[in-house]
Amino acid sequence: MKLHELTIEQAGILLKNREISSMELTRAILARIDAVDGQVGAYLTVDAEGALAQAQAADLRLADGESTPLTGIPLGIKDLICTHGLRTTCASKILENFIPPYDATVVARLKKAGVVIVGKLNMDEFAMGSTTEHSGFQVTRNPWNLDRIPGGSSGGSAAAVAADMCLGALGSDTGGSIRQPASHCGVVGVKPTYGRVSRYGLVAFASSLDQIGPLGKSVVDCAMMLDGIAGHDPQDATSIPEPVPTFAHIATDGLTDVVVGIPKAYSAAKGLDPQVGAAVERAIKTIGSLGARCVEVALPHTDHAVAAYYVIAPSEASSNLARYDGVKYGFRDKTQTDLLQMYRSTRSKGFGAEVQRRIILGTYALSAGYYDAYYGKASQIRTLIQNDFKKVFATCDAILSPVAPTPAYPIGETLDDPLAMYLSDVFTLSANLAGIPGISVPCGFSDDGLPIGLQIMARHFNEPMLFKIARQFEQAATLTNKKPSL
Ligand code: GLN
Repeated sequence: MKLHELTIEQAGILLKNREISSMELTRAILARIDAVDGQVGAYLTVDAEGALAQAQAADLRLADGESTPLTGIPLGIKDLICTHGLRTTCASKILENFIPPYDATVVARLKKAGVVIVGKLNMDEFAMGSTTEHSGFQVTRNPWNLDRIPGGSSGGSAAAVAADMCLGALGSDTGGSIRQPASHCGVVGVKPTYGRVSRYGLVAFASSLDQIGPLGKSVVDCAMMLDGIAGHDPQDATSIPEPVPTFAHIATDGLTDVVVGIPKAYSAAKGLDPQVGAAVERAIKTIGSLGARCVEVALPHTDHAVAAYYVIAPSEASSNLARYDGVKYGFRDKTQTDLLQMYRSTRSKGFGAEVQRRIILGTYALSAGYYDAYYGKASQIRTLIQNDFKKVFATCDAILSPVAPTPAYPIGETLDDPLAMYLSDVFTLSANLAGIPGISVPCGFSDDGLPIGLQIMARHFNEPMLFKIARQFEQAATLTNKKPSL
């Protein structure tokens, strides 16, 4: 097997046994990026020099027997997570030259564990979008079919993992942005419980929804990365001081004690591609044959999730993005001499169309006289969705559903139709509104060879249940070994 094709689990064993060095592995990844990223466009910044220095340090640690399970492993980071001294753009012109003076907590933890950070990955600008076409810099292509979107907003992360340009990656998920690109690129992606992973140093989009999580080639790899980043952080007021289990110790005791809920209305959802429906049906059967008991459940307010999310997320964004005014950092239109003109021009030139649309929507929804009708109503729907899940999790341990209604669609298809793009988030938004964890695990391919993902959701802080079901499904379905041909 080629070095760049290794999983984190496999590479970890070889590194620990000193059969390979982190230097060799990192060089192989850099060579792979050179060979295929011209076609895919996943990376915005490759830090070859930094990566090789980190690899050298990791090899010393490995030699001293002071390694962690992630020491020497080359990972990519979505470009909205701050990396000290390494450009962090949020794929926005407004932050094109922003070099953070500090590391996000997740990055600091990974560095402490001895990870090699290869570079920063493309995304929809400020994580607003589901296709990665809304990057201010470049389009990322789906490695399985270069004419298709990789999904988004963590499209660079998913594509880089699928194309073996890193062993794993971090993304962020505000409304599906880890799970949906994972599904479209045939990799595993985890949105942890809100509060499980620190958001300190994650550039804010919608703070009550944002959560950092891993994308990997296998369920175990994602569990290993989550082990590296999870846990309470006093620097993030919403980080929760819950005990953190070792996620990589995935239960292997079968699924006979597990009850899975199937939201029947989901399979009748408008716009669900029959091939996606069929692949998810097959996955449910497989999970049943592994011993899980399947029950039908009702999540009656899911229908309103898209409407509620697309008020709440833009509202929070309009507030969070007010800081980009050209004064303290980021792009400033220096041709303007009047202060208000400078603000206006900086923001008009610095933000792309989708981000401007969100700011306008959110500012409107929060404005005096409209607040109750929009933001207030959306918050009430959010509570109803939370209550739906509470009721359902009294009767089952996990919920199975599609991730995205269709396989990856052609690049350009929703560029002029933002509503169509928003509607494709129907299955992923509820988990963010409720704060519960979710995973996307590959469950099949469409007739034209595009990956399809299965979503599993569980109670707050029950990521171990996601890993347990997903791992056993992954072993039974043996889909994660297939590779895109680049
Ligand atoms: N597609 C959703 C949006 O555009 C979700 C994005 C995300 O999770 N960051 O807002």
